[in-house]
Amino acid sequence: MGLFSLFSADIAVDLGTANTVIWMKGKGIVLNEPSIVAFDRNTKKIIAIGHEAREMLGRTHRDIRTIRPMKDGVIADFEIAEGMLREFIKKTSVGWVPSRRVSVPSGITEVEKRAVRYAAEHAGAKEVHLLAEPMASAIGIGLDVDAPVGNMVVDIGGGTTEIAVIALSGIVTEESIRVAGDEKNNAIIQFFKRNHNILIGERTAEAIKCEVGSAMPLKEEITIQVKGRDLVNGVPKTTEVSSVEIREALNEPIAQIVEAVKVTLERTPPELSADILDRGIMLTGGGALLKGLDERIRLETNLPVHVAEDPLTAVVRGTGRVLEDLRHFSKVLIKSKRY
Ligand code: ADP
Ligand code: MG
Repeated sequence: MGLFSLFSADIAVDLGTANTVIWMKGKGIVLNEPSIVAFDRNTKKIIAIGHEAREMLGRTHRDIRTIRPMKDGVIADFEIAEGMLREFIKKTSVGWVPSRRVSVPSGITEVEKRAVRYAAEHAGAKEVHLLAEPMASAIGIGLDVDAPVGNMVVDIGGGTTEIAVIALSGIVTEESIRVAGDEKNNAIIQFFKRNHNILIGERTAEAIKCEVGSAMPLKEEITIQVKGRDLVNGVPKTTEVSSVEIREALNEPIAQIVEAVKVTLERTPPELSADILDRGIMLTGGGALLKGLDERIRLETNLPVHVAEDPLTAVVRGTGRVLEDLRHFSKVLIKSKRY
């Protein structure tokens, strides 16, 4: 399960596990910031959100806590998530914003759907529509979701990887695993502990992944300097690693993602499999940017694989399109009970 894109009469929100992206009618993307909140442990008051809170990550003292409320694809901390959403919406709007909406993770339970709706409404939304996340990305990518043709979308976010086969405005086959960007960062942290005896932070691991991480051999392998804390004597230390080692460290989570894609393909009805054979698999979400991942999936599935243009904003752009033409897209909206 991934997360949602919230939307209303004029705002589309992709409340992601790693990033929150807000789109506004007539303006396009108006906010794109990490889904991170820093708050006072005692008063629960929000001190910072987004980029500002990210700067504090791993550098806070006793009284300040930074959390990622959407991590792992569920609303881990409901109240904080709601506060974050409210602050983000406040940040985008000059003055009063009439209403707003949300898009939801596939596989989301009725309880979670209600939770999202509640968060959105309490954050000021008048009208909230929920939309399955893979559907939002498919529309954002520009796939013809209402055609009688199968399309496979693989959305690799921070907390979850969502795989879906879409046809005739519906999700035919879907799979969601809790292995995505965060697991890749963890794999890198573990690698440095085991093989280099140093402890590195989450932000460092993420920077390494984005800069030198790969799923296939690179044309030119590179060596980088990494700073962390020596596990033996506790002092800061620099160590040298190659992109080959980082690739090995990333192998486990990558293999799990590839396996999930294969399992989903096996469960797809044959007529739709034939469509996917012609059209290929679309990769989206920030994880689609990992070097060589498309090539790796191509190699393991024998299918064409494409990386979406601007994969980090596909969900919100798709949600925005639905918002602009609610009547045309009415079939893709999730019907959920009001609480
Ligand atoms: P979510 O929808 O869960 O918020 P996103 O689609 O915003 O997630 O993707 C965020 C994830 O993408 C993070 O784990 C981030 O590390 C990863 N990411 C971003 N850029 C790259 C890159 N160049 N290579 C590998 N991973 C990347
Ligand atoms: Mg996402």
